[in-house]
Amino acid sequence: MARSPHDYGHLVARWRAVARESGLRLRRLVRAGGFEHFYLRTPALSTEGGIYISAGIHGDEPASSAALVSWAEKNARRLMHWPLLIFPVLNPQGLINNCRYDAAGLDLNRLFHRDDQPVINAVKKIVTPFQFRLALMLHEDYDAEGFYLYEIKRKLPFWGEALLAAASRVIAIEPRGKIDGRTAAAGLIRRRFNRALFAKIGYPEAIWLHEFHAERSLTIETPSEFALAQRVRAHEVILDECLRRAGFD
Ligand SMILES: [Zn+2]
Repeated sequence: MARSPHDYGHLVARWRAVARESGLRLRRLVRAGGFEHFYLRTPALSTEGGIYISAGIHGDEPASSAALVSWAEKNARRLMHWPLLIFPVLNPQGLINNCRYDAAGLDLNRLFHRDDQPVINAVKKIVTPFQFRLALMLHEDYDAEGFYLYEIKRKLPFWGEALLAAASRVIAIEPRGKIDGRTAAAGLIRRRFNRALFAKIGYPEAIWLHEFHAERSLTIETPSEFALAQRVRAHEVILDECLRRAGFD
């Protein structure tokens, strides 16, 4: 029987196996909320031009972490040659409880302007020396009726349309014109960074990375009411397409 995508111990075991096969080390990020948190960095990663990938900051979005480990397993032999910083499951407590929030009831994806949450603080410390060519955040949305993505306006050419075209081969694209009050077109929400807005609501990971550490910041969302295998496939397709567009394939 397939293991639940909410089984954190199983995910960590799979990452250990990937790390072994690919010659990497599963590194300890921090112990918080009763859980060891992990990350990986490849030897090809230098301070400029790498790729930041994270999943599982919201615990009720399990396809994100499931897809990231599955993608890593498929690319185990190549991972070491790509410049990657990977945070596979940022909210294990939430994952186990199928809950967006962490053990303290906080939305970790609104705390990147602060330095008092141990997991986010640990991520920020590790990221300090890096400027990434791409930061990719994997998410899901239970209201979604298809796949969509957020692209923050800066680096040209934009990638949003090409990523949506890639995803559309494996999953339906979000048909709604409004998503969480934001205007969307064919699954694409592309806006400028609005410092005043995020100063008010709190900094998401993607916004903090955009402002300080990444020339390109993308958040992808799969519809969490769709079948797990299809959502996982959509995340994998985007990971492949992003690596290819960044010049690594
Ligand atoms: Zn999310």
